[in-house]
Amino acid sequence: MLEIRNLHVTVDEGTTKRPILRGLDLAVGAGEVHAIMGPNGSGKSTLAHVLAGREGYVVTAGEVLYRGANLLDLPPETRAREGIFLAFQYPVEIPGVANIYLLKAALNAARKHRGEAELDALDFLALVKAKLRLMQMDESLLYRAVNEGFSGGEKKRNEILQMAVLEPQLAILDETDSGLDIDALKVVANGVNAMRSPERAMILVTHYQRLLDHIRPDRVHVLAHGRIALSGGPELALELERRGYGWVEAKALETA
Ligand code: ADP
Ligand code: MG
Ligand code: MG
Repeated sequence: MLEIRNLHVTVDEGTTKRPILRGLDLAVGAGEVHAIMGPNGSGKSTLAHVLAGREGYVVTAGEVLYRGANLLDLPPETRAREGIFLAFQYPVEIPGVANIYLLKAALNAARKHRGEAELDALDFLALVKAKLRLMQMDESLLYRAVNEGFSGGEKKRNEILQMAVLEPQLAILDETDSGLDIDALKVVANGVNAMRSPERAMILVTHYQRLLDHIRPDRVHVLAHGRIALSGGPELALELERRGYGWVEAKALETA
């Protein structure tokens, strides 16, 4: 599904270009859920943004293959239509655009791209209401401007609602767990678990192990000094919870 080889990324700070990712390798297969953990500022969001095609990042070396095609050649809209979904760490507010309108437009664009007919208003409403129930969200949120005035928890649920409606091939969730209370965390985890399928890959970016109590990943990776410094099974997340990230960072420096 996704293969990242030797990815180097700098951020443009005007006059200087600062390297953030420095030779990152990662392979995620269909049906798999991978967690990417790592200290604050290690480049987790940078990786997510580069995969989604956000501006402001320069890929200086390496390649990213998505279902065998060169992902970095595709504009962001095409990536979304090809089935890549990014749930933002900081979901954007879109004043003046109703939530339901955005969901419908995004879904129909993706369906059109796949050569499928657009859903009519009634079928779409039935679909979206089923997903709302899954996310235990109030229907009124459909008719409000996207994320405007939503609480932190409502924004995060709304990201998973978008994912549930769009049914992407590859979903990247950037700290969708941060700032959630325990009940909201379970709702978000249920939404994610309901989306697990043999055809779909998911990457969960998270600081904390607690999300992984509810979503059991196939693989856990630690990002440090611009690379995947360590990979393991779900037990690695527990070890990180106990020991912190310092020892992985030290190890990453030794091999850098
Ligand atoms: P994480 O998500 O792991 O906390 P980020 O990817 O957000 O880390 O950030 C990695 C580093 O890159 C940080 O030092 C951050 O300040 C810097 N960075 C990320 N995006 C930008 C940007 N657009 N402009 C300048 N610096 C950035
Ligand atoms: Mg961070
Ligand atoms: Mg981040």
